[in-house]
Amino acid sequence: MQVRYRVIVGVLIAALMTIVAPLGCTANQSQNPAPTTAAPVAVRPAATPTTSPSPTLPTGILFQNVRIFNGKDPQLSAASNVLVVQNKIKTISTAAIPAPAGTTLTQIQGNGRVLIPGLIDNHVHITLSSMSQPELMNPKTPLETISANATKEAEAMLLRGFTTVRDLGGPIFDLKKAIDQGKTPGPRVYPSGAMISQTSGHGDSRSETERSRRFFGEVSRGEQLGSNFIADGRDEVLTATRENLRFGASQIKVMAGGGAATMYDPLDVSQYTLDELKAAVEAAADWNTYVTVHAYTSRAVRRAIEAGVKCIEHGQLLDEATMKLLAEKGVWLSLQALDPAPPTADPFVRQKKQTVVDGTDNAFKWAKQYNVKLAWGTDFLFAPANNKNQNKDIVKLAKWLTPAAALKLVTYDNAQLLTLSGPRNPYQDGKLGIIEPGAYADLLLVEGEPLKDLAVMADYDQNFKVIVKDGKIYKNTVS
Ligand SMILES: [Zn+2]
Repeated sequence: MQVRYRVIVGVLIAALMTIVAPLGCTANQSQNPAPTTAAPVAVRPAATPTTSPSPTLPTGILFQNVRIFNGKDPQLSAASNVLVVQNKIKTISTAAIPAPAGTTLTQIQGNGRVLIPGLIDNHVHITLSSMSQPELMNPKTPLETISANATKEAEAMLLRGFTTVRDLGGPIFDLKKAIDQGKTPGPRVYPSGAMISQTSGHGDSRSETERSRRFFGEVSRGEQLGSNFIADGRDEVLTATRENLRFGASQIKVMAGGGAATMYDPLDVSQYTLDELKAAVEAAADWNTYVTVHAYTSRAVRRAIEAGVKCIEHGQLLDEATMKLLAEKGVWLSLQALDPAPPTADPFVRQKKQTVVDGTDNAFKWAKQYNVKLAWGTDFLFAPANNKNQNKDIVKLAKWLTPAAALKLVTYDNAQLLTLSGPRNPYQDGKLGIIEPGAYADLLLVEGEPLKDLAVMADYDQNFKVIVKDGKIYKNTVS
């Protein structure tokens, strides 16, 4: 009797807990409705995402009769079959693959179409690209609106074929978590969190007349949103870096020089002293990950390299000698084929942007010539109507690269940069950017001949017939 009584009491307590716990959670959320600002909840930075939502049988996908661009080799395979089980590629064979017993299998007839790895964009800002700057910076814009727009943009990005992105600044941690938990569709995200900028730096997003919070002003909107930290001196840079790491950053983004899209920092300026840059590098290295910096000029890039920075974002204004130095030191260059600013932009911004656009040609040419470790991204910001052009930036690469080299850059090569996050890599259970047994099942079935004509990649809506991420089908228009 006593034993039985204890069991009943135990069951009652457990039942009560399950009722109380969600209630507590809801109450907490309604008090603190800030889904886009990283809430101080327990963070598991290197956790492997949960995959399919505990089905009774393991799921599988069998692609039949596809020609494979594996991410690396410059030619397509012979007609092949590819079996995916759960979230990994299991078997690739030119012979028929029998349906594995005990799986819920989806068969997809490729009819000779091309199977490629999911695309990787190494420079995005999911949240900051989902709204205009005035909307985001308006204190009256509710956080829920920002969160809803970012969530929508993440899904749109996945449906453009981008199965993995490196988010280089902006509120992202909660959205990344929701995507990984399968609560909302989106790409895998390597998050940086808030961009770290000096006062007057490229990430100092205050309005023209707004004063520094250190000198009679208030905390700025960008800082409140988790878009940026304005951090000066070694101590503040250390805190800002560690704060991002605590929330789950897989790498740290620091602004090391002037930018094109901003009103108050000219292109030629270097940002952060050597010692401040070193502070960020040291704090990141203690967490076994790396710093990437926004920088265009040789002076800014050389200082960053001296500080131990492992990756440069942009670099369109580098001279030839600095490009050689990148190659020598094995520092990554994450390049974009940027567009000129629209005619409606401020003349100062237009002129800066044009300077950068003009430098792009040399940057790609030299990076190729000197064998610099090259990565690619798009860096769309504050213009949601433009986001649908993300894939067109792949087509632009045809100016410098063969279609095969361009596709390798946006899949296999980009995936190599992501491994720099070491133990902070949120997806270490398989390889990305490659089609081989054991790799994550992130796959696109493409209509047309992308290795002959890169333009095929622009019309994602028509040409990406199937989109699979982590073994889950997000789009299928063939079967
Ligand atoms: Zn950016």
